[in-house]
Amino acid sequence: MTPPIYVCPRCGRRYSLQEYREDRFCRRCGTYLTLERGGTPINEAGDEESSQGVWLPEGYEVRRSQLEFIKEASEALEEGEIFMGSAPCGTGKSLASLLAVLPRLDDGKLLICFRTRSQLHIYLKELRALKRGVMAVSFISKRDMCPMKKASSTYFDFLEECRRLRRNCEFLREPYCRYFLKIQRRRREAERLALDCAKRILSPLETMRRMSRRGFCAYEAMKGVLDRVDVFLGTYHYAFDPRIRSSLLKSLGVDLSDVYLIVDEAHNLPAFSRELLSDQLTETTVEGAIKETEVFEHEDLPSVKDCLEILDEEVFKRAERILGKDDLRRLNPGDLSDLFLERYGVAGPEAAEVLHEYGEEVRETRDRLGYERIFSYNHRVGEFLLNFFEKRAEEYIHLVRKDLRGRVILEVRSLDGREITDPVLRQAKGSILMSGFLSPLNVYRDLMLYQRVGVRLREFESPFPPENRLILAAGDVSSRFERRTEEMLERWREYIEAVLRVNKGNVAVFFTSYDLMHTLLPHVRTERKVVVEQPKTRRRQVIDQLESSGNNVLFGVMGGKFSEGVDYPNNILTCVVAVGLPYATWNVYQRALISYYNRQFPGKGRLYAYLTPAILRLIQACGRVHRSPADKGCIVILDERITHPNIKKQLPRYFQREMKTVMSPRECAQQIKAFWEGFSGNSPVRYLE
Ligand code: SF4
Repeated sequence: MTPPIYVCPRCGRRYSLQEYREDRFCRRCGTYLTLERGGTPINEAGDEESSQGVWLPEGYEVRRSQLEFIKEASEALEEGEIFMGSAPCGTGKSLASLLAVLPRLDDGKLLICFRTRSQLHIYLKELRALKRGVMAVSFISKRDMCPMKKASSTYFDFLEECRRLRRNCEFLREPYCRYFLKIQRRRREAERLALDCAKRILSPLETMRRMSRRGFCAYEAMKGVLDRVDVFLGTYHYAFDPRIRSSLLKSLGVDLSDVYLIVDEAHNLPAFSRELLSDQLTETTVEGAIKETEVFEHEDLPSVKDCLEILDEEVFKRAERILGKDDLRRLNPGDLSDLFLERYGVAGPEAAEVLHEYGEEVRETRDRLGYERIFSYNHRVGEFLLNFFEKRAEEYIHLVRKDLRGRVILEVRSLDGREITDPVLRQAKGSILMSGFLSPLNVYRDLMLYQRVGVRLREFESPFPPENRLILAAGDVSSRFERRTEEMLERWREYIEAVLRVNKGNVAVFFTSYDLMHTLLPHVRTERKVVVEQPKTRRRQVIDQLESSGNNVLFGVMGGKFSEGVDYPNNILTCVVAVGLPYATWNVYQRALISYYNRQFPGKGRLYAYLTPAILRLIQACGRVHRSPADKGCIVILDERITHPNIKKQLPRYFQREMKTVMSPRECAQQIKAFWEGFSGNSPVRYLE
């Protein structure tokens, strides 16, 4: 028999077991080597793949799913491919992605970007635990890290104010920023402290507290040492907003081609990039701009007033009269531009320039006169209109709408975010994109990249035991619009009540919309304590309530704050009921999005623009039950459409395998009862014991 050999995961150098144990660092490339506990070494033929050495501190344990992830991601980076992984909760993908990249950092830097702060804390924890002497800095937004806490109308205005406060430090002219001034006066002390924060891998708020206690601006001080750190962690803006990225790269002292990128919760990236390319203007800003003309004189004031009047009367006041709440209409930017031409003598883009220039003057005047805030409403209106008239390609749609509070909003919305994502992902030294649910992977690839080549897609299995979950689909109910009858509502009610009667532990019932929730809620009879998602309901409140007993029911919506991005720890939620498929509201924007994607990906418009986001919201909601291998519970989907082959095949593989169809509330209750009886005498639910 051929003796087993061990392989360095980075350079592929081969070792005998004896050598591997003795030489903790690879002789060729210096990578730290360790044995997977219980793993099988590969043989000479190289036909086993689970025993590769992994860059880990001694005694550090990795799961099998992590090893698979590391192997796939490392190979992709090695071959210059973009890696996209759909790795369900429990895979340990944060650590795995770090282990794929960290051994390569001698010739690059790592930028980890995320959407929510909870993800940031997971990475910080892993980086600290790895104890590899990595220096890491993490930022949230500059405004959130600023101890001066200035209120500004927009983030851009805040940045302008910060710039002015820093500039004034030079002449000690009021107002100035004392935190920035101290950095200038005690540069070496600030630098020492900043490097210490980077070594300790502190969170942005810990860094901010530490630095501001000593009188320093954390953001500026940390920025000053970025050229010496290995890892930077920040929101998507740091990687994908061109202005912010270029300033970050300058501070890091590298080009994008020297940076490895880890994008967490990557399912958010297509929508994020579209938002980044979009812009909107509210009537409050236009009202502010009109008031501004009463305060700040200028030779062009009559023209400014004319432009604002056209915008106010012909767009905002008119929409106020015509649109109902939450109503949306398409608007032709050419028509609006012609209106400016007809009424004021210059076309839309020139009118935008007039407002923008006046806004510049207002800001300069405010700055000169020492105003606390130096923003200008007219500057903002002008900037928006420039965007509105400029972005007229087929990737954009122009809209006027009323929100739920009845406010009129003028918008230019992007239909395609690839202009933002493609160059970053392609130019980076290596990119890993991952999420608990990034499926279908080929759809997400197409939504982020122009070309299909050079991308490795990998869906990982759920590492949680299948016997701990029951997935049911009701075959006799549907949220299809034409089937929304009184009888259907009645049937849904029966299903919900049946689940509430038999499930052990807390239940969450998530609806497709607040409307549907409030229609059904008054008719649901239950002994359980009812918690209803409201705009002001806080997550902590709900978790505390669910932790107090197993006899609660939470009512909320899919895509809402209780069905996504929230962890229900210690199995405090043992059942999710999804009432219907959460398709986006059918409106002019949805239609435009579908027809745009139909042009880009013939015949796939509905899948890309409509079905994929709905499945994502559904799976996110259902994913609240199983957060650790020990969690047990049921998932009930009350919409027969989920069993249709073309929809079912978009679900995670384990859903497709395990989902059972029930045809009545009674059968649904029997299945749930039998599921829990399977654990009798060994109840998983803490508070029921
Ligand atoms: S320099 Fe720092 S502390 Fe001063 S205003 Fe800007 S962010 Fe705030």
